[in-house]
Amino acid sequence: LHRHTEWRKIAKKTRRKRIRQSVAKAKHDKEEEERKRREQSPSYREFLRKCEEEEAFQAQEEARLRHEAEQRWLKVEEEAQKQWQELQKKLEEARQERARQNALIRLEWEREQQKLKALKEAKEKEREENEKKQRQLQEEIENFVAHGGETPEHLKVNVEMNPNKATCPFFQKTAACRFRDSCSRNHIKPGVSRILLIPNFYLHYSLEQSENEHGDSSLEFENHETYSHFKEFFFDVLPEMERCGRIRQFKVCCNHEAHLRGNVYVEYSSTREAVRSFQAFNGRWYAGRQLSVEFCNIESWKSAICGLHNRRKCPKGSSCNFLHVFQNPHNLFQAADRDEHRTPPKRYVEISVKNKVHRLFLLY
Ligand SMILES: [Zn+2]
Ligand SMILES: [Zn+2]
Repeated sequence: LHRHTEWRKIAKKTRRKRIRQSVAKAKHDKEEEERKRREQSPSYREFLRKCEEEEAFQAQEEARLRHEAEQRWLKVEEEAQKQWQELQKKLEEARQERARQNALIRLEWEREQQKLKALKEAKEKEREENEKKQRQLQEEIENFVAHGGETPEHLKVNVEMNPNKATCPFFQKTAACRFRDSCSRNHIKPGVSRILLIPNFYLHYSLEQSENEHGDSSLEFENHETYSHFKEFFFDVLPEMERCGRIRQFKVCCNHEAHLRGNVYVEYSSTREAVRSFQAFNGRWYAGRQLSVEFCNIESWKSAICGLHNRRKCPKGSSCNFLHVFQNPHNLFQAADRDEHRTPPKRYVEISVKNKVHRLFLLY
């Protein structure tokens, strides 16, 4: 029984399958027939043609859009390229500019270095030439001092402080001016001369004070202590200076003003002696100070020395621009104060011959 049931089941299944297959075939055949019929119909063909047209249009549009997008991209790319190239160009220009600037700076620096070098060399050369010149001058001076002869030409040259201005009357008369080198007038300094000026050589505390505080300086003149201090200086310095030559005038100032205070003027009988003395005293130390010696011209002692002070009547006091001088011991060099040493009195003898007087001049 069981086997019979099995068999029936299988038979049923097989029959159902067969039915299903035939139904499917019929359906397929029908569909195929339907399709063929549709394909043959003009409306379907029209539909297909339209479909093709639409597809073609779509493809064309897509191609166009792609092309446009590509063009845009190319343009952007081109623009970017252009910008990049411009940037590179600018960078290159900047680099070249920097290089050019650096080259300029270097050139300038080299030029400066060359200039400095040339300047240094010129200075060195000038220094050497000056030294050589100084040595020559020194030799000439030493030769002149040792052997005499003509005063070397270069020593005769005057130095003018303000060549185009009027001559300073004070400097012309006393070789000293309260305005010193900043004076608006011309100070003429000789290269050499017979007269030496040693500014501020004589020191005494009474000269350091202003004249008003201390009273009239003519009183100091009589002051025993001050005068003996001066005498000591006089007898200390004069013999030293006489070693260099014959002295015609020796004056020590008792002015209080800085430009005249303690000034010592020494006139020798010749330029050669004065130069010798200059060499001996310039730069020498005295009483703790280094002496600075100058050559000067005093045209007339009479106009340089304040005559009123000698008679104790100078109304100008400390503001006087002329020399207030100590009286030398034993009135030494007194004749020079009146410039008599410059034009010595003629010496002669008178002889009467047959009642006629003859003057015979003596040659000494
Ligand atoms: Zn002056
Ligand atoms: Zn005076």
